[in-house]
Amino acid sequence: MWTKVVLCVHCGGDDVVRNGKTSNGKQRLLCKSCKRTSREDRAGPRYSEPDKERILRAYMERPFMRGVQRIFGVSRQTRSEWLKKKS
Ligand SMILES: [Zn+2]
Repeated sequence: MWTKVVLCVHCGGDDVVRNGKTSNGKQRLLCKSCKRTSREDRAGPRYSEPDKERILRAYMERPFMRGVQRIFGVSRQTRSEWLKKKS
């Protein structure tokens, strides 16, 4: 069954259909709106806006970035994406 609502990671649209499997067995998804494909697990964990604020503040205020990264489990890439959106 395919009842879970999946949003496109590229455009945020919800007109996403299954499009076979990737070579490592992950579900591949095709967005009918923007015609781009993604893997189901690509989005990773979701963070709420207050969580993002809190984590970003911790990153900016503390000198030990690696420690903060470990505490919150947010990848450097995810964090830099948030910072990009803010600026
Ligand atoms: Zn899309």
